[in-house]
Amino acid sequence: MERRRNKDMSTIKTVCKEIRPEELGFTSMHEHLLCDFTEMMKLSIEPEIRARIDYIPESMLKLNLGNLYALRTGMGTFSKDCASLYDMDYMVGELKAFAAMGGKAIVDASPIAAKAQKNVRGLQELSEKSGVHVVTCTGLYTAATQPEEYKAMPEEELVAFFKKQMEEGLDGTGVKPGFMKCAINTPGDCMGVDASEIKAVRACARVAAETGCSIHIHNGYPMGMEECVPVAQMVLDLGVKPDKLLMLHMDSLILRPHTDMEYISDFAAVKTVNIDLMLRLLDMGVNVGFDSWDMLVGGFPTNTDRLKALAELLRRGYGNKIVMGHDAYDKSRSVAYGYTGFTGFIRNALPVLRQLGYEKEIGMLTTENPARILAF
Ligand SMILES: [Zn+2]
Repeated sequence: MERRRNKDMSTIKTVCKEIRPEELGFTSMHEHLLCDFTEMMKLSIEPEIRARIDYIPESMLKLNLGNLYALRTGMGTFSKDCASLYDMDYMVGELKAFAAMGGKAIVDASPIAAKAQKNVRGLQELSEKSGVHVVTCTGLYTAATQPEEYKAMPEEELVAFFKKQMEEGLDGTGVKPGFMKCAINTPGDCMGVDASEIKAVRACARVAAETGCSIHIHNGYPMGMEECVPVAQMVLDLGVKPDKLLMLHMDSLILRPHTDMEYISDFAAVKTVNIDLMLRLLDMGVNVGFDSWDMLVGGFPTNTDRLKALAELLRRGYGNKIVMGHDAYDKSRSVAYGYTGFTGFIRNALPVLRQLGYEKEIGMLTTENPARILAF
């Protein structure tokens, strides 16, 4: 009979080595390291807008002071100049800035996507040079960005492919994924979600259930209660333990009313945050990500909105199910170019939580919960 793996023997698979959960330390749970998403992100937007992006002069996408406002509020996504793919010195600097404020580990959440570039080989060097643990993943992103060959794969084949990556490493590098990443973002007729996204979630969940690793699901507007909750339930039904499921970007789905226009056009409309969706997930035992701190793109919640929701969840005792991050994927928001990079929540959220008396919970959000979720 196969001997069951002792729970005490579970480790976290960093890009360099396996470590014990207690070695992980202060963690930012959702970022993007050494990547270029500029072409991938174009696939995610409407064709008419894409056509306009293609006509933006190079000079307007250059990373300089005159362009910083536009880059930080959305255009950085399409700026090659903002991509970090092979810029090792830059990324080492960002990780060192994080380490200087107490950071010990960063979770790199870039999955397989068409036209997305990720410097897998560079992640080991990055970790060694910065002294920060890096945990990376495999999986698939939104329907529009899934490469055709993966879109065409039956679920069974996808499961076999991901399992091979878990065992042998990514793209022949030997760098092993430490978790599974997938997305629900596109409306469709499979539980209200595009069928290829659901197929990817199922495949990732099956690998997670079998290996014990965690599964992190990107949630993007307009997904809400009707989609996120049943999808989370489906993942649990496939055998994933609730504490191994992380629903990402939940702090970006808290605004009610949703749009500025709804707020402006109705004088009686009051701007506030809504945590009902998070409560449903938390009560299922699932983890939620407050992982987009310091985001400046228009229409997204501000840090104040995010803090209002987080403080209430901590007050209600959900601190053991929440993790933090910035979803920082381009240079426009970096420390090197005068913003906060991977240090945003340390500078702007934790001091407020401390003032509110949540010192113990800060340890859960940044250290205990990431270690528990990532260990398998
Ligand atoms: Zn992300």
